[in-house]
Amino acid sequence: MRQLDTKEIILASHNAGKLTEIRELMEPYGFNITSVGEKGLPEPAEDGTTFEENAYTKAYAAAGATGMIALSDDSGLCVDALGGDPGVYTADWAEMPDGCGRDFLMAMEKVETALAEKGAVNPDQRRGYFCAVLCLCWPDGHAEYFRGEAHGQLVWPPRGELGFGYDPVFQPDGHTRTFGEMESSEKHSWSPDSKTDSGDGPNEGLSHRARAFAKFATELLG
Ligand code: IMP
Repeated sequence: MRQLDTKEIILASHNAGKLTEIRELMEPYGFNITSVGEKGLPEPAEDGTTFEENAYTKAYAAAGATGMIALSDDSGLCVDALGGDPGVYTADWAEMPDGCGRDFLMAMEKVETALAEKGAVNPDQRRGYFCAVLCLCWPDGHAEYFRGEAHGQLVWPPRGELGFGYDPVFQPDGHTRTFGEMESSEKHSWSPDSKTDSGDGPNEGLSHRARAFAKFATELLG
């Protein structure tokens, strides 16, 4: 694995929720972080069929445009009863018909309608997971990937005003509250020196993003 020999990183995301969470996760490591939005760079089209492909598209575009090492996040919600949908199209399900932005309440309703059409009423029929793939990309195109998943169930109605995106309908395993009802620190449940509840071994984190980041930190941030 190629080592990271700089503290200057550009975050290749225009998503405010993701940017906040990644900045929080990176905070203890003393990076000098900018984002593509702050540099006035456009969002590249995401036409890949995997989280890895889309993560690479975003990170390579940012690294190529700035000459900096870029970190991107491609993520989504995969619902078992829907054959893994919305998956890589999770953001697209929130696109408003008039093209005027994204509406995540509408997107959560679409998921719920699709689950109802499948007759998915019991918790074990409403299982799914969030996936995040972090891609660290150098200007020469070299990339390293870190994947994290958080499994749980889809609840209805949405609960909680915290977080972003589909957080209010996702209740992670082992918890009675949704991500939308958790402060981001609890959603991460990870810091460089955190341990598991039992105190033995390193903590993996709770959210998909924290889990992917924990792998990144273990491999590259020492
Ligand atoms: P993309 O990675 O830009 O394709 O967008 C992924 C979409 O998945 C985002 O727009 C969010 O709505 C959703 N998503 C990803 N991570 C989370 C999360 O941690 N909480 C809630 N929604 C998420």
